[in-house]
Amino acid sequence: MKRNTQLRVIAHLRWMMAVLLLVVTSVGSAQNALTLERVKDGLYMIVGSGGNVGVRVTSEGAILIDDKFPQNFDEIQSLVASVSPLPVKYVINTHNHGDHSGGNGGYIKIAEIIAHQNARDNMIRGNQDAPPRVVFTDQTAVYLGGVEVRALYLGTGHTNGDAVVYFPDLKTVHTGDLLHGTAPYIDYGNGGSSRGWVGTMNGVLALDWDTAIPGHGALMSRRDVVGFRNQMESVRARMAELIRGGLVRDDAVAAIKESSLSWTQAEEGLFMARSIPGLYDEIAAEVE
Ligand SMILES: [Zn+2]
Repeated sequence: MKRNTQLRVIAHLRWMMAVLLLVVTSVGSAQNALTLERVKDGLYMIVGSGGNVGVRVTSEGAILIDDKFPQNFDEIQSLVASVSPLPVKYVINTHNHGDHSGGNGGYIKIAEIIAHQNARDNMIRGNQDAPPRVVFTDQTAVYLGGVEVRALYLGTGHTNGDAVVYFPDLKTVHTGDLLHGTAPYIDYGNGGSSRGWVGTMNGVLALDWDTAIPGHGALMSRRDVVGFRNQMESVRARMAELIRGGLVRDDAVAAIKESSLSWTQAEEGLFMARSIPGLYDEIAAEVE
């Protein structure tokens, strides 16, 4: 009996080691598998490991939108070199999260990094390496090689410092994590807000564009973004209805699940695990 238990424990440990090895291996290979995709003439997207990086190529150098993790710097540099012989001159951080601004440590030595004031403040508070030297509050623009790249602040959402990057000549936006292919994360600890998010999405939709680069996932159309905005409204309405019906905070994750709301089907994602308790508090304060 005792020996059986020991064998079971050993078998279980072996299984856990195998799972751990698989996870480590897949993380390792994902980090070595960044790929560059063409979005439009002069605009590319680097996908894999961390947030989607936008690469705007001009006759005077490249402008990057986000720079993934610290360890991705060399690979991003070689992918940029595959589409332009010129150096990266500017990096715009869409927000403070480390999978979007982690490469700043490398880029601050060779380029100017720009972010919203609140994103920089969040980086300082989080002891992040290489916060940007240049900030904006309302909007700013980079003009390089006859190309305009605008960074707009349209309100809170994923955090309180999300930049919406607009490429007017290409009718394209890069929204950082204000758009997510699977389900969004409302980072209440960094000033995120579901209510603000709906208004910010309306601001994004008011711009003239046909293609959106999300923080994670595949390119989106206007229709996709309308659907995203609508789901944010539906989730808010459902939470309000549940709270009015007497829902307690501990039951919120289970109760919010609804087959018509795809975000609530992504059970292991940041939306369910890390956004719902905060969303409960946000909506409870609204319905009081
Ligand atoms: Zn993020």
